Amino acid sequence: MEYRINQRTGDRISVIGIGSGYITEAPEEEAAEALELAYENGVNYVDTVASSAEGYALYGKAFEKVRDKMIYQVHFGAEYSTGKYGWTTDAETIKKSVDWQLGQLRTDYIDYGFIHCLDESSDWNAYRENGALDHLLHMKDEGVVRHIGISSHTPELVNLALDTGMVDMVMFSINPAYDYQKGDYANGSSDERMKMYRRCQKEGVGISVMKPFSGGQLLDAKASPFGNALTQYQCIQYALDKPGVLTVVPGVSSLENMKKLLGFFDASPEERDYSVIGTFTPKNAVGNCVYCNHCHPCPAGLDIALINKYYDLAKMGDALAADHYDNLEKHASDCVQCGHCNDRCPFKVDQMKRMEEIAAYFKK
Ligand code: SF4
Ligand code: SF4
Repeated sequence: MEYRINQRTGDRISVIGIGSGYITEAPEEEAAEALELAYENGVNYVDTVASSAEGYALYGKAFEKVRDKMIYQVHFGAEYSTGKYGWTTDAETIKKSVDWQLGQLRTDYIDYGFIHCLDESSDWNAYRENGALDHLLHMKDEGVVRHIGISSHTPELVNLALDTGMVDMVMFSINPAYDYQKGDYANGSSDERMKMYRRCQKEGVGISVMKPFSGGQLLDAKASPFGNALTQYQCIQYALDKPGVLTVVPGVSSLENMKKLLGFFDASPEERDYSVIGTFTPKNAVGNCVYCNHCHPCPAGLDIALINKYYDLAKMGDALAADHYDNLEKHASDCVQCGHCNDRCPFKVDQMKRMEEIAAYFKK
């Protein structure tokens, strides 16, 4: 397992976590086996929102004894009074639901208490005005909630929440389709979305990724908005390469599913390489580095993707990124302008020019 650290909380989070949307589709015994396998392989992060109420008890049973090793995202706004998932911003309903969720999860604390699934500013206003947010913050004061998160599909809404300074974790829908304005949750331009990811990284806020396969559409050539299928591993790598991302939490519906996800760590760089999406890139996103590494290796030994990531972050005022750049072994000024990266880049980035720009910016 690989882990990444949430800079604001210090939590060490597995890069693959568990999404709960489909967990109740598996027979109970099989779901338990899948969760055990995940734990044995170092998965420690769970987004608990299930499509039906039974999902929570599965985690309670599976992880009660190792609760201190697990990190739960619990959503203040998911409710199960009908037995099925429901969405609410009503404070009293949220209160009852969270108490119930804690009972089912067999725990008395929540690692990340999430403001749940807000996409419109009117929802954000309602959440703050009707006492839902106060309840979440009160539970944090009481020590039941350790940290605050927000889940959303809209960069603008995430930015509003980040402005408050209270958010430690963002759950966001990231995949090549949404980033390229295709699909139900393709909110915001490529640029706005990438800016928000960079802002999270700059502010030390982690991102957990939902819908990495666009609800499965990207895995099926007929359903994919690109007319081509991508693999799970390409989509996971794509999400993990975005700034700020700590973990990807795909929905798990069977033991087979879990085994397949864990296979990501045995996959070759070629199996994870998603540069084929360079052929689908919309005009307004052509020429932007997506940090995919496809242009590597650089004959002069530059880590081209990382140099670009640090540069983009430093330009936003991320002092840590500037420091990381400083500590790199090779800098943009070491570029020998061989052109190999320009020829290899599927996203048509003029990297030779960029290296000059980056060297001028950092003066090295
Ligand atoms: S220059 Fe192109 S190939 Fe290289 S990391 Fe950036 S997007 Fe990927
Ligand atoms: S142009 Fe510069 S950065 Fe690109 S491959 Fe050549 S030496 Fe490396």
